[in-house]
Amino acid sequence: MVHVGIGYDVHPLVEGRKLILGGVEIPHAKGLDGHSDADVVMHAICDAILGALGEGDIGHHFPNTDPRWKNAASKIFLQEAARQATFHDAKIVNVDATIVAQQPKLGPHMHAMKLHISQALGLNPKRVGIKATTNELLGFVGRGEGIAAMAVVAVDLPS
Ligand code: MG
Repeated sequence: MVHVGIGYDVHPLVEGRKLILGGVEIPHAKGLDGHSDADVVMHAICDAILGALGEGDIGHHFPNTDPRWKNAASKIFLQEAARQATFHDAKIVNVDATIVAQQPKLGPHMHAMKLHISQALGLNPKRVGIKATTNELLGFVGRGEGIAAMAVVAVDLPS
């Protein structure tokens, strides 16, 4: 039986932080602020997987009050979500994510993001879709105050 999950995340852009999206360090004047590396794409995908499994959310598994996750690379969260899927005897069918960022241009980094995400999940890169859009200068994303990401995941669970 195929189950689907949805994930959404947003983090503020601030000076003095690296910008990490989909596990890739992207040159930019600002980076995303958060307890971990604040990789919104990986966080959204992680929540989508946990949602499909009925296993709560990323904040439940990796509380931002836990010093173990301070500045943690978010691939750890994806690896744990994949472990949870295995624990449920489930197979991740595919992942699709959209990043909403006014800047910087993400096109040149999409392929590397896809590889990082598929590696963390132990998935064929063909099963991972990553897309990016601007917010047409509207709202907090359009003003460059933050970056958002959303993801859906399909998981094949034994019935
Ligand atoms: Mg997050």
